Amino acid sequence: MGTNNMMQKNYYAVIEAGGTKFNCAIVDEQRNLHAQTRIATTEPDETLALVIEFFQQQRTTFYFDKLGLACFGPVDLNPRSSTFGHITATPKPNWSNTAILSRLKDGLDCEVFIDTDVNAAALAEHHWGAAQNTSVSIYITIGTGVGGGVIVNGTPLHGLIHPEIGHMLIPAPEGIQGACPFHGNCVEGLASGTAMGKIWQQSAETLSDDHQAWDIQAQVLARLCHNLIVGYSAEKIVFGGGVMAKPNLLDKVIAYTQTSLAEYVTFPQGSSLHNIICLPGLGQHSGLFGGLALILAKP
Ligand code: ZN
Repeated sequence: MGTNNMMQKNYYAVIEAGGTKFNCAIVDEQRNLHAQTRIATTEPDETLALVIEFFQQQRTTFYFDKLGLACFGPVDLNPRSSTFGHITATPKPNWSNTAILSRLKDGLDCEVFIDTDVNAAALAEHHWGAAQNTSVSIYITIGTGVGGGVIVNGTPLHGLIHPEIGHMLIPAPEGIQGACPFHGNCVEGLASGTAMGKIWQQSAETLSDDHQAWDIQAQVLARLCHNLIVGYSAEKIVFGGGVMAKPNLLDKVIAYTQTSLAEYVTFPQGSSLHNIICLPGLGQHSGLFGGLALILAKP
């Protein structure tokens, strides 16, 4: 993308709102970061007041009138619903039924563009990252929880609510009992950092590279990839999140997916699981730039 010094720079407010922190920034269309802060996710009143204060201060230097909100879910994304822009029933204490969109809109008197954190990250990867030039792509994050966003023809998939790929049921590897309080053996119950901690009785970060946990983890994620490839015909499955940083994990996932699909799927020329299943092109920034993608994708 070329730059034009005569062109006036537009600034945008973006938030990656997560269960532990709100990552807030001022960015421009070229994805330059002009200001950034992280605010702990405590109670809605406290956190949102600090978020609004940060942006009010920044606005005197970097004027903006649009905010992109990549929000942890579940969140009501139906514009015709009376609870549009509300965080709905979340296990995060005190955040259920928070009208996050209208509180930010009113507090900052600006237009707010909202989607789930993972749909927004998926959109950013589609625009600028690993999933460019695809008609169906999926972004999965494996962290304390598991989430997934789906992009079809450049648009985040919503439908009934929004995809909840983290709660897709997965046949558990032998001897493993999933830890999701709702479903037991769903992806989040088997493969999130939280679940790994419960299954192996030690935190995922402290599991050594050769611990059998990583082989089990790869088997679970391969079953997920199998389902996503046959279910969505995904051209790219982008894996983000802290847990995926483990060396060799991605290669193991690819190998187990190959075994699981058992050569049933014929890939188009030039395409293979080695380029379908990949890490983010935007590194740690998929979520934050997701906020920008939500703004720029709208006419
Ligand atoms: Zn679940």
